Amino acid sequence: MSTLELKDIVVDYERRGGGRVRAVAGASLSVDAGTIVGLVGESGCGKSTLARAAVGLVPLAGGSVQFEGHQVNPLTRRARPAELVKLQLVFQNPYSSLNPRRKIGSQIADGLASPSAARVAEVCELVGLPASAQGRYPHEFSGGQRQRIAIARALAADPSVIVLDEPLASLDASAQAQLANLLVELTRELGLGLLLISHDLAIVRHVADSVSVMYLGVMVETGPTLPVWSLPLHPYSEALIGAVPHPDGTGFLPESLPGEVPDPARPPSGCRFHPRCPYAFDRCSAEEPELVEIADGRSAACWLQPAGSVPALPGERAANRAVPAGVTYRQEPPTDSLEEM
Ligand code: SF4
Repeated sequence: MSTLELKDIVVDYERRGGGRVRAVAGASLSVDAGTIVGLVGESGCGKSTLARAAVGLVPLAGGSVQFEGHQVNPLTRRARPAELVKLQLVFQNPYSSLNPRRKIGSQIADGLASPSAARVAEVCELVGLPASAQGRYPHEFSGGQRQRIAIARALAADPSVIVLDEPLASLDASAQAQLANLLVELTRELGLGLLLISHDLAIVRHVADSVSVMYLGVMVETGPTLPVWSLPLHPYSEALIGAVPHPDGTGFLPESLPGEVPDPARPPSGCRFHPRCPYAFDRCSAEEPELVEIADGRSAACWLQPAGSVPALPGERAANRAVPAGVTYRQEPPTDSLEEM
């Protein structure tokens, strides 16, 4: 079993003004020691809700979270169970999670089982902060340094897994690059497992060992990062990775892909991506494809990529529409990229 295992997670929330929204509709993923799992998807796809579910910050309407063999239940006012202390979360905005009136050293020491100045200095060193940082207040640091402090606080608990929700989003490019490298070093040196939620595809490609792609509350593709990048199996992954070209061939997650993002309160029938998918055919709006294993630890949820099939090149996807027999096409295969939809 993986260190952190999320199985068939369902999360609902009440919408202001009434009505329920299913933010996560049966998503699974796992994080092993010494690996970084990137979770990507457009804004509103449910990835941050899934991150919160992973550490017990939101109640589940279905599914389960296991951490080192223990069930992760929604947090209550009672102290966090000792067996879950090694599961930590780092938020996007470190300033909001640090107490502005307390020195950094005492905030890091909060997480230590046996607090000592020497151990606080050690943790500071791990994240590249000088030992003298202990005696200073949060406002005396830059955004990148504050995020290092937030990571140091998480490391003080001697974690096995850290869930990082957009940890680099508020930083400038050079601080992002430094912190991304730090995350890789920590993972390798300490054997940590990291779940990295990010809208920045370039960073995920750079640091993650594997990637999970989420769309409207469900996982549409999972697999080792480089194969997913070089040959995405799901049309949504293909669109994300190809949507915004980048000089080094990576890309940043666009604000939105062509077409409207559906309302999660009323997801489309069948495949949730079908109203925006250039390859959609009749079956897509009628039946929802499951995430199935294709090859080499790679999975996708698309009727064009049946279980065990050979990964299709984008140009070959249209040919796979012949599966199953007898369907009629909704439209002709596109000849150009998704940007022209
Ligand atoms: Fe597109 Fe159909 Fe595959 Fe969904 S199942 S991604 S609509 S081809």
